[in-house]
Amino acid sequence: MSENLNIPGIYGCAVFGEKEMRDRLPRAIYKSLKKSMATGEELDPVVADATALAMKEWAIDQGATHYTHWFQPLTGTTAEKHDSFISPQEGGTVIMELRGKELIKGEPDASSFPSGGIRATFEARGYTVWDITSPAFLYESGTTKTLCIPTAFCSYTGEALDKKTPLLRSMEAISRQALRICRLFGDTQTQKVIPSVGPEQEYFIVDRETYLRRKDLIFTGRTLFGAMPPKGQEMEDHYFGAIKERVSSYMRDLDVELWKLGIPAKTEHNEAAPAQHELAPIYATANVATDENMLIMNVMKKVALRHGLVCLLHEKPFAGVNGSGKHNNWSLTTDDGKNLLDPGKEPQHNRMFLLMLAAIMRAVDEHAGLLRVSAANPGNDHRLGANEAPPAIISMFLGEQLTTVVEHIIADNDEAVPAVSRMKVGVATLPAIRRDATDRNRTSPFAFTGNKFEFRMVPSSGCIADANTVLNTIVADALASFADELEGAQDFDAALHALIRREMKAHQRIIFNGNGYTDEWVAEAARRGLPNIVSMVDAIPHLITRDAVELFERHGVYTEKELVARADVSFELYAKTINIEALTMIDMAGKDIIPAVVRYTTEVAASIAAVEAVGMDASVQRDLLSRVSVLLRQASAALADLRVCQSAAARMTGEEQARAYYERVCPAMQVLRAPVDHLEMIVGSSYWPMPTYGDLLFNV
Ligand code: ADP
Ligand code: MG
Repeated sequence: MSENLNIPGIYGCAVFGEKEMRDRLPRAIYKSLKKSMATGEELDPVVADATALAMKEWAIDQGATHYTHWFQPLTGTTAEKHDSFISPQEGGTVIMELRGKELIKGEPDASSFPSGGIRATFEARGYTVWDITSPAFLYESGTTKTLCIPTAFCSYTGEALDKKTPLLRSMEAISRQALRICRLFGDTQTQKVIPSVGPEQEYFIVDRETYLRRKDLIFTGRTLFGAMPPKGQEMEDHYFGAIKERVSSYMRDLDVELWKLGIPAKTEHNEAAPAQHELAPIYATANVATDENMLIMNVMKKVALRHGLVCLLHEKPFAGVNGSGKHNNWSLTTDDGKNLLDPGKEPQHNRMFLLMLAAIMRAVDEHAGLLRVSAANPGNDHRLGANEAPPAIISMFLGEQLTTVVEHIIADNDEAVPAVSRMKVGVATLPAIRRDATDRNRTSPFAFTGNKFEFRMVPSSGCIADANTVLNTIVADALASFADELEGAQDFDAALHALIRREMKAHQRIIFNGNGYTDEWVAEAARRGLPNIVSMVDAIPHLITRDAVELFERHGVYTEKELVARADVSFELYAKTINIEALTMIDMAGKDIIPAVVRYTTEVAASIAAVEAVGMDASVQRDLLSRVSVLLRQASAALADLRVCQSAAARMTGEEQARAYYERVCPAMQVLRAPVDHLEMIVGSSYWPMPTYGDLLFNV
């Protein structure tokens, strides 16, 4: 793929976007559609029919034969049900058809998607509804091209069965509340406030042939065994290092595919761990960014295969090297493009910004548990709090300047806060550059980075809808309470000042600018009363506390029934994931590893006999054999114990089951892994039944 590409020419060629709509729709239809997009008003059936027709013609022109309602069930992945455009006619002929009502609404027989009991199978009806604010696109797989229509998925009675519906509801909630604040500041123009999201996606790339020889990667997405290679990430030579040729041609191909889909993939670089990389698109409206991120993950995996590679999105594919996450950059923008989180030159006097900051401090402090659960998945348990990537404790990084601003406000100190300074590099030919208002603090889970907050706990393989639904809702709630108070104030300026001060003071404990990976921080956070929720199983109940239910119901984001369903689905998802991991370990240890070690010991024993038969000293072999035998016995006992734990847990249900997997099965897996990893380091490499970390991490 080295020819010169006309990038502007291909950009967006696989989306039914603005340009296509304008070119293909009658003017009145186009205007009416745009209006519905902006206001959320229901689509007129005539407009729907005309749009469906134009969309179908465009898709067929591009070679599409099928269409699908594309949605995000609670499994955290995407789902689609393909229908062909074919519509049989009298006389045995067919026409290619997509009617307005098929565009707007679908009815997948989706009874096998997890619903947490919302939908019993006898009433298995679920509907997909077109999200007109996210553009339809063409997805290519092999030789088929499918028109994908982004949709929300809900039950017959209107309960959300997906991750998008609550996200859309939370976007309405935050817009409603932020608008009240805009009005208080005399803004009569803004009609909508939009959460903008830019997710930075981390991933690993490994060679496909090597991958295929690892059952654990195939079945679970992560390695369940594996000793550290002689070289890890200690040299720090991978981060931002030169990208290897095979990976860079993959990245280029990936970019092109994403650009065709109108996804503005922007930066790509190596990450901290060997074989780890990152991709960041330019930010978009929260729901569009969510759809795009799902698509990015999909395309990443698909394109990798073309290059003989596999893209690993798991949060912790390899023990001992950094895991992957998503940095969810989040800000609030008015419909005319003003970023409400932009501190400007003088944050100290930017009252709108300070009010937003106070609201976010309050939201994050009061609902740390919800943020934590929004980032929980089984893979993230290996990352959060495991001395890398963000710790499991939620705190907020503001940087020096803003922290001083907050301190001044709390102390009622009018002294000017030093503006952002210029940094001189000390080389005359390099210009002095404006120092970022915030330094980089890579250890903070929730960091202010210039004009946005970056929530860094989000799992690399997960759907970012959950995190953004929570963020939007908790900030909406703080803004609602501020608006209630300020709308009734006699003296707005005085009331505003008092409110900002009071809230910052009340929630100052959430601010932490230090190193979040240290034990001192764990102790300090406990002193401050900040929760430290170390596992997914402990996080899930935070979704259904009285406070959480009331919060989400107050803003129409989730009903109690929907929340309970989600908690159930999460426990189940956790249990299923660990069960697969346990079974994979049992299989690998029992069928591959132990037999390989036995073969090795047999040969060492034969060597001892042969060497001693000629009267020579076999003490080295004897020593080796005895060390291997001890570890082999340990591994075999641990395997037996894991079998017992796994089958006990498999018989349970619900939260009790998830807890059994967490408290019994996970530790048993660790106990099995330890002697096996030790064996890997002493058993001859030609005996070892699978590729090692070294083969996986340094072989692309
Ligand atoms: P950083 O270097 O701080 O990580 P980047 O400029 O690389 O920042 O941006 C990281 C991500 O944040 C990108 O996806 C970018 O589009 C997104 N982003 C930038 N500004 C905003 C904003 N105002 N709101 C949401 N996301 C943003
Ligand atoms: Mg970043």
